[in-house]
Amino acid sequence: MNKYSQNSVYKLAHVHPVLVALFTAILSRDDHSIVCGHRDQKEQDKFFELGRSQVKFPHSKHNKYPSLAVDVAPYIADTASQHVSECAVFGTKVMFMANEMGIPIRWGGDWDGDKNIHEHKLQDFQHFELDVEKYRQTPWFQMYGL
Ligand SMILES: [Zn+2]
Repeated sequence: MNKYSQNSVYKLAHVHPVLVALFTAILSRDDHSIVCGHRDQKEQDKFFELGRSQVKFPHSKHNKYPSLAVDVAPYIADTASQHVSECAVFGTKVMFMANEMGIPIRWGGDWDGDKNIHEHKLQDFQHFELDVEKYRQTPWFQMYGL
């Protein structure tokens, strides 16, 4: 049975509970690592400077508390995969499960959700964020709020 590392558990502690529910459900089928959850101002500044984020603090969904975004990598051969193809396959599975559970997610591999992953300039295959507008219409919002 797959199990989160201490590091992943720590990161998930600062992530919105509905995202935790989604990825916990996925863990039993598909092993993965939590790469990034919440980012404070210092971390966001660093990410922005490195070009790994397009927005300044506090405009990333990673800057909300708890975080409304999470970066997740499939865990393959004892490592958190950085390979685009492996991350894309994993992302497709995440989106399938999110749909099953009725949790509206935007995926960095397919921002507009049209299932074409080849059309976007800024791709971030490890990034998953809550679609807040749609989330407000779900029973999850009644349970967990924002
Ligand atoms: Zn991200």
